[in-house]
Amino acid sequence: MALIIKNGTIYTASDSYKADIRVDGEKITQIADKITAGKSDEVIDASGLEIYPGAIDVHTHLDMPFMGTVTADDFESGTIAAACGGTTSFVDFAIPAKGQALRETVKIWHKKAEGKSAVDYGFHIAIVEYNERVASEIPAMIEDGITSFKCFLAYKGSLMVTDGEFIGALDLAKKHGALVSIHAENGEMLAYLANKFTAEGKTGPEYHEASHPAMAEGEAVHRGAVLARMAGVPLYIVHTSCKEALDEIKVAMADQQVIFSETCPQYLLLSNKLYHGNGFEAAKWVMSPPLRDEENNQIMWNAVRDGFVKVIATDHCSFNFKGQKEAGLSSFAKIPNGAPGIGDRVNLIYSHGVAKGKISKNKFAEVMSTNPAKIFG
Ligand SMILES: [Zn+2]
Repeated sequence: MALIIKNGTIYTASDSYKADIRVDGEKITQIADKITAGKSDEVIDASGLEIYPGAIDVHTHLDMPFMGTVTADDFESGTIAAACGGTTSFVDFAIPAKGQALRETVKIWHKKAEGKSAVDYGFHIAIVEYNERVASEIPAMIEDGITSFKCFLAYKGSLMVTDGEFIGALDLAKKHGALVSIHAENGEMLAYLANKFTAEGKTGPEYHEASHPAMAEGEAVHRGAVLARMAGVPLYIVHTSCKEALDEIKVAMADQQVIFSETCPQYLLLSNKLYHGNGFEAAKWVMSPPLRDEENNQIMWNAVRDGFVKVIATDHCSFNFKGQKEAGLSSFAKIPNGAPGIGDRVNLIYSHGVAKGKISKNKFAEVMSTNPAKIFG
């Protein structure tokens, strides 16, 4: 028995056309002007409806230990939300503890996901330290199908790597044909500002934003791009949020450098006004990078439209307000960083992007599905 979807309009990154679709099992086996359904086939009449490729979310943190707690959504609740919201596959970050073997980390993440996920999934792995052991493990990781390695230039004292370690990762990516991605904020600047505000008794959640200035993101994107250029490898920049970062990306792209930039719905739709006048409720929007101003929201939409941002993912990293975000009642520095989005990305970007004329339907297919698939394979 096949599934036949009839009379819909298909939108891809490059085309829009009316056609029927045949699905056998989990595979699309035919797209044609007219497909005649057999007796036992299930038929969906999609007259007047738009059909897009399944959305791919390449930036999630499910069941992840972080800042003294574990993200609220696991591979069951998070992926049910994904499926309900039109996301049919995702790539989660496996993050090793320092000293932990990469293969061991991936095993742990497979265990978290096994038998629980409602949709297809893959993993990136984070490089939280670089030494001979890590270097020797990377070829095996690539053989296992994990070809994307993330370096944090922020979170000093936990996930952050030094420039030397980052260069080591870039060098290995060059040797083995892998892709390196970065969390681009200057971790030293962030740590300095957080300590300074804390010492001054400025501990409310609004100081999270103040301790993550846009210039720290711009600086890290610049540094990341220059080091990737030196190493001769492409670079993927996760959760780009502001003009300062985009300006650096545009300079590198104008120089023919291969830079893939990702943004997330929160940097398109929410502004830093939420950090003010909401008391401790503002902790709900404590994430890194923080929300920027409304001008930056528009700048990010334009960057998606104009092709400077290639992917919209979520950075889904959910914490309950009660019992988790509340860990930061005494200081913004203790609020677990992150917010949810895996179930809402498709609807949000369609409603606020396509329906409001900010991006085309083809661009929607491109940044939600086609580019993520092409970049991460
Ligand atoms: Zn993230």
